[in-house]
Amino acid sequence: MHRVMIHPASYENCQRAVNRAFELFPQQIKGKKVVIKPNVLRISKADEHIVTHPSILRAVVDKVETLSPSELIVGDNPGLFAYGENKTSFETTGLLDAAKGYYRNIGDFSMQLDFNPEYLPHVGVSKAIMEADVLISLPKFKTHGLTVMTGAIKNSYGILPGAQKARLHQIAGSPERFHEMIVDVYRLRIPDLFIMDAVIGMEGNGPASPDLRNIGVVLAADNGVAMDGVVARMMGLDPGELRFLLKARDIGLGNFDLDSLELDGDIPVVPDFILPPLSGQKIAGSPTINERMQAKMRLLPEANSELCTACGACIDQCPASALYMAEDIPQVHRDLCITCFCCQEICPEKAMTLQ
Ligand code: SF4
Ligand code: SF4
Repeated sequence: MHRVMIHPASYENCQRAVNRAFELFPQQIKGKKVVIKPNVLRISKADEHIVTHPSILRAVVDKVETLSPSELIVGDNPGLFAYGENKTSFETTGLLDAAKGYYRNIGDFSMQLDFNPEYLPHVGVSKAIMEADVLISLPKFKTHGLTVMTGAIKNSYGILPGAQKARLHQIAGSPERFHEMIVDVYRLRIPDLFIMDAVIGMEGNGPASPDLRNIGVVLAADNGVAMDGVVARMMGLDPGELRFLLKARDIGLGNFDLDSLELDGDIPVVPDFILPPLSGQKIAGSPTINERMQAKMRLLPEANSELCTACGACIDQCPASALYMAEDIPQVHRDLCITCFCCQEICPEKAMTLQ
């Protein structure tokens, strides 16, 4: 039976919730190599809540320090091509300070591992992740245009350094295949402990939406499927409608059914929670939505001319080269777009919307 902790918390007092997580899910840390992986989507400010809040990271680092690891590393692989922006992403979000000197650019060294040949025969994974004795994942409670929600399982997509993430987006080619592929990435190195920042969460057009919700909890679990099942319920979703959770459950990585979970705390369903366009959960298997997608009557990104600064970042990072600049505003080739929503994720002005 999996256990999920749901503990009331603010950013000021989150140490209590983090300490409780380590009580419920004790880890053998003394003399071991520990890696802490927050969700660092891209360069942003902490109060945009696009990334795991620095207070949560700080509380976890403080706790792990007391358990005497032989080595402690804090790292992630932000963005789709962001080899050079790793440290800047940590710096601007306040996560560099919170890491207390343990930050490393884990994108610098990677190891080749066998992968699902349906996508790629091999992928490179950050060496630090693969060599960790204890891997602690710090996801953020957020929506996601492609996977509906981004939580424990999706946070592991960041174990892939740089451009591979974009390449896999392109190879996946459809939301359904992307749902399945992130589970294959997750299982390359399943984290030992998950501590989720759900103090302030994100709804609407995530994972970089301006729509934030005060939720006031920290979640913890030693199973990502169980944690994401609880997060889905908090968002008002049936976890059984999310394709990535179904795949993870079906291949034996965990369970999200309530009768297979032991809850430490009550599930706080967020009232009137706004899901991403497509009503999210329908991506899981609705024939109507699939049909519309096949017919290309689907959502496409569109830049808001009032917000767009014509910086070109979305064009540079589109894995399908589906964007071009015309009269200082990005335009999309609808036949090339693979609806990966990376442009929305990467836009620093939150100017990319789905239409
Ligand atoms: S990344 Fe955003 S601001 Fe920059 S060109 Fe694209 S839509 Fe405009
Ligand atoms: S235009 Fe945007 S959604 Fe379409 S393929 Fe490029 S990055 Fe993905």
